[in-house]
Amino acid sequence: MPRNIYDEDHEAMRASAREFVARTLAPRAEEMIEGKSIPRDIWLEAGKQGFFGLDIPEEFGGAGVDDYRFNAVVAEEMSRFNAATSSCFGIHSDVCPPYIVDLGTEEQKQRWLPGMASGELICAIAMTEPSGGSDLAALKTTAVRDGDAWILNGSKTFITNGYQADLVIVAARTDPSKGAKGITLLMVERGMEGFQNGRKLDKVGMDESDTAELFFENVRVPDENRLGPEGMGFISMMQRLPQERVGAAVSNVAHAKAILEETIQYAKDRKAFGQPIGAFQHNKFLMAELVTKIEVAEAYVDDCIAAHAEGKLSAVDAAKAKWWSSEVQNDVLDHCVQLHGGYGFMNEYRVARAWRDARVTKIWAGSNEIMKELIGRDLGF
Ligand SMILES: Cc1cc2nc3c(=O)[nH]c(=O)nc-3n(C[C@H](O)[C@H](O)[C@H](O)COP(=O)(O)OP(=O)(O)OC[C@H]3O[C@@H](n4cnc5c(N)ncnc54)[C@H](O)[C@@H]3O)c2cc1C
Repeated sequence: MPRNIYDEDHEAMRASAREFVARTLAPRAEEMIEGKSIPRDIWLEAGKQGFFGLDIPEEFGGAGVDDYRFNAVVAEEMSRFNAATSSCFGIHSDVCPPYIVDLGTEEQKQRWLPGMASGELICAIAMTEPSGGSDLAALKTTAVRDGDAWILNGSKTFITNGYQADLVIVAARTDPSKGAKGITLLMVERGMEGFQNGRKLDKVGMDESDTAELFFENVRVPDENRLGPEGMGFISMMQRLPQERVGAAVSNVAHAKAILEETIQYAKDRKAFGQPIGAFQHNKFLMAELVTKIEVAEAYVDDCIAAHAEGKLSAVDAAKAKWWSSEVQNDVLDHCVQLHGGYGFMNEYRVARAWRDARVTKIWAGSNEIMKELIGRDLGF
């Protein structure tokens, strides 16, 4: 089904992202799997190509493009390569910058945004803690005022880009008596005494992404690193989660679509009982269903992209896109593995890795149960 949300400028951006994948990422796919991260020089190259500064105003080194469709085409192309690269770049370039652009002081913007746009400062956002991620308002990391600074103590886990991060947006409790209204965002920088990036966690998928624990032991964070007003951290996160969730949905659909296309080709090439395996009615009908599921999901996500580009996407609709697309993605990829037979279980086949990678999309960016909780509440329950 033809898509109608992108014009020729978006397609030009897609072409340059596709070229970047072919020239810079694809030849180093194995290196990234083994290193469990994206090498620094690739971050710098992506910055040079302009993939990181879309949401960053020109005066701070970005492109100042106020059109989410550009972010979406880049995310689609990265996801077609693999879901991990899309998530690492997405956190750095789509999720983190709006916090600083919207909430930062002039001095903070000058200090951090140019490095984020160029890829020199890798950024992460740390909400989840070992004691829980869904109940964000219950987070335990504390920051206590001490003159012109905050003393930060606690830890975070499962943080994308956490191992390499130079700059982390940390949600900390600054007032224990105020629940959600007692949470403040602090910018923690690499090298601050008492701040430690933990090991790269051993995951069942998304091998190329660095996902780490972060430890804070009496870290002295100057008040000038506070992002936004005291006590507004929770609300700031809630306001920006729709962008993270629509980004997740874009990636989920593009990732599954790419592997499905490859699977359809495989079903044409692979023979059993003297005919292509795709010619068996069961498989033909199955692929007909999978293509339909992807296109229907894509149509809804496209509407969300277009709405978000106009600043009109609601948190509830973003939640619908996030949970539904992740279910479709997992369903489609599971069938793609089956269609590959034994090869589908071999890591050297992209389909096997994609299937493993997809599992987390039902868990992160707010679990699918939390998405349904948000949607259910909107129904008046
Ligand atoms: C690879 C990876 C990367 C990640 N990257 C980041 C990152 O960059 N930054 C960050 O802050 N976090 C990140 N996360 C954390 C992720 O967002 C959390 O794992 C997620 O929010 C769930 O939190 P939890 O793991 O603590 O599970 P819990 O909150 O302990 O939930 C456990 C189970 O209980 C269910 N549950 C909880 N509450 C309810 C409820 N009210 N109703 C029904 N069911 C409920 C959940 O849906 C889940 O199934 C990442 C996670 C992974 C695995």
